[in-house]
Amino acid sequence: MDVQVLIAGAGPTGLTLAIDLVRRGVTVRIVDKAATHFVGSRGKGLQPRTQEVLFDLGVLDDVLAAGRPYPLLRVHTAEGATDRSMGEPGEAGEAEPWMLGQGELEAILRAKLAEHGVRVELGTELTDFTQDAGGVTAVVDGERVRAAYLVGADGGHSFVRKHLGVGFVGQPVEAVRMIIADVTSRGLDRDRWHIWPQAQPAMIGMCPLPGGEDRFQLMAGIVEDAPELTEATLRALLHERTGRTDITLTDPTWTSVYRANMRMVDSYQVGRVLLAGDAAHVHPPTGGQGLNTGVQDAYNLGWKLAAVLTGAPEELLETYEEERLPIAAGVLSLSSALLTKHARGEEDSMRRGKETQQLNLSYRGRSLAKGEHGGDRVPDLPTSSGSLFELLRGPHFTLLALGKTHPDLPVPTHALPELREHYGCDYVLVRPDGYVGVSTNNPQDLSTYLYTL
Ligand SMILES: Cc1cc2nc3c(=O)[nH]c(=O)nc-3n(C[C@H](O)[C@H](O)[C@H](O)COP(=O)(O)OP(=O)(O)OC[C@H]3O[C@@H](n4cnc5c(N)ncnc54)[C@H](O)[C@@H]3O)c2cc1C
Repeated sequence: MDVQVLIAGAGPTGLTLAIDLVRRGVTVRIVDKAATHFVGSRGKGLQPRTQEVLFDLGVLDDVLAAGRPYPLLRVHTAEGATDRSMGEPGEAGEAEPWMLGQGELEAILRAKLAEHGVRVELGTELTDFTQDAGGVTAVVDGERVRAAYLVGADGGHSFVRKHLGVGFVGQPVEAVRMIIADVTSRGLDRDRWHIWPQAQPAMIGMCPLPGGEDRFQLMAGIVEDAPELTEATLRALLHERTGRTDITLTDPTWTSVYRANMRMVDSYQVGRVLLAGDAAHVHPPTGGQGLNTGVQDAYNLGWKLAAVLTGAPEELLETYEEERLPIAAGVLSLSSALLTKHARGEEDSMRRGKETQQLNLSYRGRSLAKGEHGGDRVPDLPTSSGSLFELLRGPHFTLLALGKTHPDLPVPTHALPELREHYGCDYVLVRPDGYVGVSTNNPQDLSTYLYTL
């Protein structure tokens, strides 16, 4: 075996998975067909649940330092400009959505991966693979690589998905086509995300980006073919749609025409090949869910792959699809409901409810969830030792002993009787990805759970 896991695609999903695997001692190669690293702002909203994942991986401080909170929305209409909040305030102790360009997030993830001694292999396209009972034989940039598992984190046009013949059910959303561009602009308040919803022939928005001064992400709906995207055409578009010639626009560093799609796979796994992120589900940008869902796919998959590679039953991997496929279906329906509001021009169409923050997603009722709280996300509850997340941090299961006894299990154990009232039981075994595996009063349930994984 050349490597234990070969990851095709070094976007946010592939990078998250690579970090999560290498910190567990799994050998990884991560290849990307692109010749250079991605630099655009693209998926720029990091939901609170994703920030929890980034904390565990050791990159949250860098992400917070490089990014900024979501600005208020300033809606410009013929009647004037009004300011609105995009979201609801979080509970005490919960993070707010954070804004950071996708290219910058990827750079931070790559730096963390490099600390673990792994670098993304650019210009290295996966062009073929076959699998057998013992592993996968892949061809990357003409080189034959033998791996125990292959993960296709290769984006919406996934070669891996197509080569597997996995169904990708859904349809393009013809109504939603947008120009997106990173530009330098002066003349607009940088504390506001400006939007002209009634602009003709379609909306236009300018969102201030963190990082370089005066950087904005321009987003503009298109109803016909997109013009050639140059500085001059983008400036003309901005001036025509806003009626504001005092706003400057120069230096477009990244431009893209985005066609919204709404599709998901009918299977996340075929034997030793797994799909994650946009390779498994694509949806409209409404609600800012795409990148976040991919990061959490990776976080669900990482510990399971590592466990199977060190002797856990292969059936554990089946729980990846069991847990993540319903989440993808939910995200598709959430982003399409928001899209419908957009299309109808509803007042609150840019407003994002708590459900977009992904903190309430749960694996309740799935086969790895045992006991009353099984499958629930563990929040950062205050403890006598400080933040619970500090205690959970790392690639291991964690036992929270809330009663009087502490069974001897091969996992970090913390006596936290102050959390007994919250959980109403003596033991909570927390999975490496921060969800309750089992909540119980019977210590036997804990060892049964751990030793059958
Ligand atoms: C224009 C645009 C705007 C967007 N805006 C938003 C937004 O506002 N909010 C949001 O949440 N999401 C948004 N998204 C979606 C978000 O960017 C994606 O959900 C996110 O990038 C998914 O990450 P990923 O790692 O799964 O895939 P990707 O980021 O697509 O990464 C896939 C990687 O795989 C590589 N690759 C492909 N094929 C191969 C191969 N055969 N071999 C090797 N490498 C390969 C590609 O080069 C690429 O680097 C937007 C997407 C686009 C295109």
